[in-house]
Amino acid sequence: MSVQQQITILGSTGSIGQSTLAVIEQQSSYKIFGLSAHTNVELLLQQCLKFKPRFAVVSEEQAAEKFASLLVAAGCQTKLLVGAKALASIAVAEEVTHVMAAIVGSAGLESVLAAAAASKRILLANKESLVMAGDLLIDTAQESGASIIPIDSEHNAIFQCLPSGDSKKSLEQINKVVLTASGGPFLNTPLADLDSVTPEQACRHPKWDMGRKISIDSASMMNKGLEFIEACMLFDLAPKQLEVLIHPQSIVHSMVYYQDGSVLAQMANPDMRIPIAHGLAFPDRIPSGAAPLSLSECEPLEFLIPDLGRFPCLALGIEAAKIGGNAPILLNAANEEAVAAFLSSDISFSSIPLIIAAVMSKIPCEAAPSLAIIQDFDQQARNLAKKLIFKEF
Ligand code: MG
Repeated sequence: MSVQQQITILGSTGSIGQSTLAVIEQQSSYKIFGLSAHTNVELLLQQCLKFKPRFAVVSEEQAAEKFASLLVAAGCQTKLLVGAKALASIAVAEEVTHVMAAIVGSAGLESVLAAAAASKRILLANKESLVMAGDLLIDTAQESGASIIPIDSEHNAIFQCLPSGDSKKSLEQINKVVLTASGGPFLNTPLADLDSVTPEQACRHPKWDMGRKISIDSASMMNKGLEFIEACMLFDLAPKQLEVLIHPQSIVHSMVYYQDGSVLAQMANPDMRIPIAHGLAFPDRIPSGAAPLSLSECEPLEFLIPDLGRFPCLALGIEAAKIGGNAPILLNAANEEAVAAFLSSDISFSSIPLIIAAVMSKIPCEAAPSLAIIQDFDQQARNLAKKLIFKEF
């Protein structure tokens, strides 16, 4: 690659952000333009000293004050910007070629939309932006010429297994897409014990080391429900073309079934540096630093049909994809509130799907064509979820 690529990482102190920096550290053709963190300013400072970005954004004000003094004390030349609006500014800056969108949750939505409007290559790790505003995001990217490369391991796998070129024509050649799921830490836990599991148990994922929110989503399989919606949006698939299979070894990251009987799968060790390296270099390939896959040494590969009774959050996700409109927004917002309440021990693990189902049934189904309407449904769902969490449960 002759021209140096300039990258902004939104959410650089999280798990995906750190993995992105680990890949870039080994590549001289990439330069960091901007980094952002919500509150972890100690790690952000270390990253700034090492990668020397032009800008660092801290979205939370008190943390930003602390970061300002840390920057001065360390003699770091990176310029500090503060607040949610600044996130968009480091994503759309003219010098920036790639934006890694790795902020967790709905807080990442506006900056992703801004990057899409500014025709950047978006490495999309924030699944909520597709779940909440999939149509809007895809349309915005198509209009501006922005490219979206999914970094979620399953969607990156599907992207790698799909033919490039005319997407409409290639979709006709596909019979189905299989999203694989690890099944999380509670795949074999007796059902009666699920009500009393702790946040620590739920965060202990057998294959992936991730942030707390997504770890809980993996334990409930809401993560796969959100990914189901994400896949429909990204690849223009109807829900009936998608299937979920539990694959506890997390080696096959997803599969595409073609009409001639061929099945293409992407396999790799479960290491997020692999989809990140793919997204950075596409259509080229670069080293990711991940260990090579040894199929002769890994456990036998299993594929199981998920039990929707054990994983009601997965059933809710699939249902939201089928309903469309505001349903995915309500699902996502209610889930974020319920997971936060579970993490702070306000509700039990088994209450998470009850709260989501109640929110989805109480707010009528409607279309959600603009950011303002999306944000309004998001807020309505959060208010109702909080009411259910703190008053009625
Ligand atoms: Mg995933």
